[in-house]
Amino acid sequence: MSKVAHYIASSSVQRLRSLQTSRAMSTSTASRAYDTLISGGGIVGSMLACTLAQNKSAEQLQSCIIEQAPPQKAFKILDRDPDVRVYAFSPSSVELLKNIGVWHRLEQERGCGHYTQMQVWDTDSQSHIVFEANDDEPLGYVVEHGFLQAVLFEKLVELSRSENSSLDLFSPAQVTNRALNITKEQHEWLDIDVQVNDSGSIERTIQAKTRLLIGADGGNSHVRKLSGIGTWGWEYDQRAIVCTIQSDAQGIAWQRFLPNGPLAILPLQNGFSSIVWSNSPEEVQRLRKLDDDDFLAELNSAVHDEWYPFTTKEDKLEEQRHGNLGATFQDALSHLGDSFGLKQSQPEFMQPPEIQKVTSQRFSFPLKLAQASQYVRPRVALIGDAAHSVHPMAGQGLNLGISDVGALASVLREGFANGQDIGQLHVLQQYENQRLLPNLGMIGGIDILKRIYELPAPFSAVRSVGVNALNSFPFIKSQISKIAQGRI
Ligand SMILES: Cc1cc2nc3c(=O)[nH]c(=O)nc-3n(C[C@H](O)[C@H](O)[C@H](O)COP(=O)(O)OP(=O)(O)OC[C@H]3O[C@@H](n4cnc5c(N)ncnc54)[C@H](O)[C@@H]3O)c2cc1C
Repeated sequence: MSKVAHYIASSSVQRLRSLQTSRAMSTSTASRAYDTLISGGGIVGSMLACTLAQNKSAEQLQSCIIEQAPPQKAFKILDRDPDVRVYAFSPSSVELLKNIGVWHRLEQERGCGHYTQMQVWDTDSQSHIVFEANDDEPLGYVVEHGFLQAVLFEKLVELSRSENSSLDLFSPAQVTNRALNITKEQHEWLDIDVQVNDSGSIERTIQAKTRLLIGADGGNSHVRKLSGIGTWGWEYDQRAIVCTIQSDAQGIAWQRFLPNGPLAILPLQNGFSSIVWSNSPEEVQRLRKLDDDDFLAELNSAVHDEWYPFTTKEDKLEEQRHGNLGATFQDALSHLGDSFGLKQSQPEFMQPPEIQKVTSQRFSFPLKLAQASQYVRPRVALIGDAAHSVHPMAGQGLNLGISDVGALASVLREGFANGQDIGQLHVLQQYENQRLLPNLGMIGGIDILKRIYELPAPFSAVRSVGVNALNSFPFIKSQISKIAQGRI
């Protein structure tokens, strides 16, 4: 039995308790009873479970977290090259990782990237915008999925085994209910069937009761479907190709808007960076088939060539004509800014890094916008991608999920401290009220930005003017930086 499987098995044996000490228990019951049962131990679900279990108040919420993937998978990553899946973390998301007590491990054992500047520029190189960090705080950190998942899992194991633990952990396991009785609020509990695969082979089913079922089970959320919550949104007819590269990029994040979609370079540790390149499905298919040398050449061309991917002289001349038109508008706007004393100097265009080597396989993901029509129902709450999926362009998907964690944890703690039934809709509604509008604002903003950057000539000339103008106004840029840092 692996170390992790052993942890889980022993934790389960030690903790076959009916939680009669919990204030949430009204009567003795044969099945396990929890205040919260979290389905999905990805980054978002794990962070919520850790946050709830670390509350040091005398009476604690009793929680359970269930993850369908086997934990060993997460541990294997430790000695490898950087993970292909990485996240741009805002400083406010990092704060939550510090509170959970795992951030120091990322810094000390594995390292992570950070950036204090971000340059966004356009295909024709006529317009660019440089965002800079506010108040000595990086704009963002770049964290590897595998290592973060591993340290969070270890934290869950530690918390579930600690004395007077308020957390149970089952992995690999999943909720197997085919329906939930959530229409009537007077039900005090939801009955949940959890199928556990001990040592990955022996299956057993555990009957559990919970005041609140939390769906942290990703974009295809089983909990969302079980609770009858619909979604709206659209496919982008784009895929993102992701891979790891080596370059001289340090401390700067780069994003170039190309006609088929944005290409982002996020700096990791030790000269590695991560590429997220959104493109049409046909182009992604072509790019994935290229051999390493040809892909590297094409990547450098996409980052550096003024006219990528234009191939004909006519294309170039047409863009040049609109570029000139943009320059004229730009001059006019510049004079206007000067006369109102609004403008300061425009940060110079920074030369993007030369990519020396592609060090990983290339993977690709379909891109979509999806939003749950509700985040809560009686005894159910959704967080993270179960509630919303967003285009990866601005690197905000997980950050939104982590903000959900902060909001839901504080609503649940407060409700619990005040003796409320935390599964009731009026308690959960506070969470939805806090998160729905900010999430919609960010998701909508990203979608609009994406569409603006896809506008063809002659609108692209007007966009160039707007972007260059924005680059001249430090106050507006600083507000945008604060939003990205999770400070507004
Ligand atoms: C190409 C790309 C790049 C991205 N880059 C960024 C970025 O730079 N920054 C950023 O903030 N976001 C980024 N995102 C978005 C980010 O990946 C997601 O927002 C984030 O992974 C959501 O986390 P989650 O925990 O909610 O869901 P998931 O990561 O999907 O985790 C869900 C978990 O639930 C488990 N699960 C599923 N079903 C069940 C079940 N029935 N029972 C038990 N467990 C279950 C899964 O195994 C998984 O562990 C990117 C996304 C893409 C596609």
